[in-house]
Amino acid sequence: MTATLADSHCHLDHRQFGEEIDALLERAAAVGVEQFLTIGTADGPPVLDVAVRLAERYPNVWATVGVHPHDAAKVDARTFDELRALSKHPKVVAVGEIGLDYHYDFSPRQVQSEVFVEQLRIAKEVGKPVIIHTREAWVDTVALLSGPGVLHCFTGTPEQASVAVDLGFHLGFGGVLTFPKSDSVREAARTVPEDRLLLETDCPYLAPVPFRGKRNEPSYISHTARKLAEVRGVSEEEIARVTTNNFRRLFGLPELKTNEYTGKADGPS
Ligand SMILES: [Zn+2]
Ligand SMILES: [Zn+2]
Repeated sequence: MTATLADSHCHLDHRQFGEEIDALLERAAAVGVEQFLTIGTADGPPVLDVAVRLAERYPNVWATVGVHPHDAAKVDARTFDELRALSKHPKVVAVGEIGLDYHYDFSPRQVQSEVFVEQLRIAKEVGKPVIIHTREAWVDTVALLSGPGVLHCFTGTPEQASVAVDLGFHLGFGGVLTFPKSDSVREAARTVPEDRLLLETDCPYLAPVPFRGKRNEPSYISHTARKLAEVRGVSEEEIARVTTNNFRRLFGLPELKTNEYTGKADGPS
């Protein structure tokens, strides 16, 4: 595939990647992945800037800052002030991933909700989109939701997709789209308006078929792109064009020139 792709949700700081980030980005570039949004939630407060530091090192990596619902109980008096300050960094293009996770319930639901609401407020204040994580918490999430932003790793029904689109959201489709039992997700992906589609890996999690169960990485997004093209009955080039344009438009990002695809920035390190 020659068209360019964007990974709208990856965790490049994850310890499973260790010191391999240069190699990961090179393998991704080899299959046309040019731009990356790395999520800054890491292990939660008090450390909030891991993605920002990565984005400072690579010209084609952008960052989010945010507290994952899993870590909501780790928030302290300083967390929101620090998030507010970090969210103004020029390479920070969204607040996330934030939301509600009732599958694991790692933080009490009431605390998840309060931390979610406060971060939605910060995103509004700084005028940046949100990246939403919601799991087994659809009704409560929708009740609080305000865009623009992304429902990442979308695994809902076509009806839920339509609600999200009406609320101004984009939907991020990842490896789950390729799983045999994901007919409902594929139906959602087929019916979503073209200008709301995004591709993501959520790596190192949720690798697409044929790598399911293995460590995921940005280069594998080409398999998800192929599936999305198949589901929508269009070419892979068309899916790449559409999703990459959506990515750049939502996050206000430039097109990159060929010689900027990989390699470290010359700037601050
Ligand atoms: Zn998530
Ligand atoms: Zn994630």
